[in-house]
Amino acid sequence: MKSPQTVRLPIRLFKPSLGEAEIQNIRKAFEHAWLGAGPMVEQFEQAWSGYIGRRHTVALNSCTAALHMALGAHGFPSGSRVLVPAITFVSTAHAALYNGFEPVFVDVDYTTLTMDPEDLDRKAAQKSCVAVIPVHFGGQPACMQAINEVAKRRRLLVIEDCANCAGGCYGGLKLGAWGDLACFSFEEKKNMTTGDGGCICFDADDLLPRFRRFRWLGIDRDTWKRAQLSQDTDEAGGRHWYYEVSEIGFKFSMNDLAAAVGLAQLERLDGMNRTRAQLIAVYMEGLKLSRIAIPAFPYRLEESAYWLFMIRVPASCRDRLARFLRTRQIATGVHFMPIPLHPLYSQHRIGVEVALRAWEELLTLPLHPDLTPTDIAYIVDSIQDFERGAA
Ligand SMILES: *Cc1c(COP(=O)(O)O)cnc(C)c1O
Repeated sequence: MKSPQTVRLPIRLFKPSLGEAEIQNIRKAFEHAWLGAGPMVEQFEQAWSGYIGRRHTVALNSCTAALHMALGAHGFPSGSRVLVPAITFVSTAHAALYNGFEPVFVDVDYTTLTMDPEDLDRKAAQKSCVAVIPVHFGGQPACMQAINEVAKRRRLLVIEDCANCAGGCYGGLKLGAWGDLACFSFEEKKNMTTGDGGCICFDADDLLPRFRRFRWLGIDRDTWKRAQLSQDTDEAGGRHWYYEVSEIGFKFSMNDLAAAVGLAQLERLDGMNRTRAQLIAVYMEGLKLSRIAIPAFPYRLEESAYWLFMIRVPASCRDRLARFLRTRQIATGVHFMPIPLHPLYSQHRIGVEVALRAWEELLTLPLHPDLTPTDIAYIVDSIQDFERGAA
């Protein structure tokens, strides 16, 4: 962690941490002159599987695509129900709608702000529930033991939404190794980035060819493999160009340019997560004496990989505090407005009372690896100025 003495304003809420290694890898992709889905994507997939500890990874252009595919590959009948937490990014619920399924919103636990296993058990009792998508919200692990127990009893597929927690562990096991499938995001703001990108991880061998077809319009063989095959004389009897489509697929692949950045970012992921944890520790120490701001999660910095540093402040002063911090050139955010508050999901506004109360108190403060303890001290001082009535 760098510690210069001056604060550089404005302070961004998120910022990808990029360096020479990423540029070196992009140069390799340029030299190879293959920027589409190719060998670097495969290299990234192998590295990611090893890192998370799962048999397979299929790299994609977003976590939204991963969630869409993760639900779509099992032949669930249309109208099936999928359980998702009330507080998450809209992609988690959209995954159900993309597939013609109905999202069922599970309330959050007030302390962890992640899916409440008791409410899950209650709501999963209705008929046609086929899957649950717990979200490790902001990096705070969902209660996976309890959720897996409910899922087993009620025969639900478990898809972990790991968009916020790449590199985090829970109970000594990597997040993303707890469910049947796990979806990660490498969008610009997340724990690590490929610009836009994502992947899906799992162990079941039979899902691998399905997901590979799904991400490539239903085509049963990758273009770059066919290109390679055409170099090898006589392979496939001169019919290296042949492929078949027997079901509809999407255009969801990751490309080599993104994978080049991803390979470099993966090397640095643990280090970036450690820096985030150190910065959160500085925040927590600084906010100890605050009367209005408390850390939103029971942050467990040794194990988890947090994407968000959030505080809870009385709902009556949250927006005023956000405005005040803006005058100090400090960006803030709110993650996330409960999904049933969006017009698209307005018929689902019942049964998520904790979420509807809790989100009004949440404010996200800047967190990214290029911040310094001096920056955090400036943010904490500004919050204290607000408390002293300087607003
Ligand atoms: C960011 C995010 C996603 C979507 O990720 P993309 O890669 O941008 O599609 C899904 N779920 C959660 C919880 C997220 O925060």
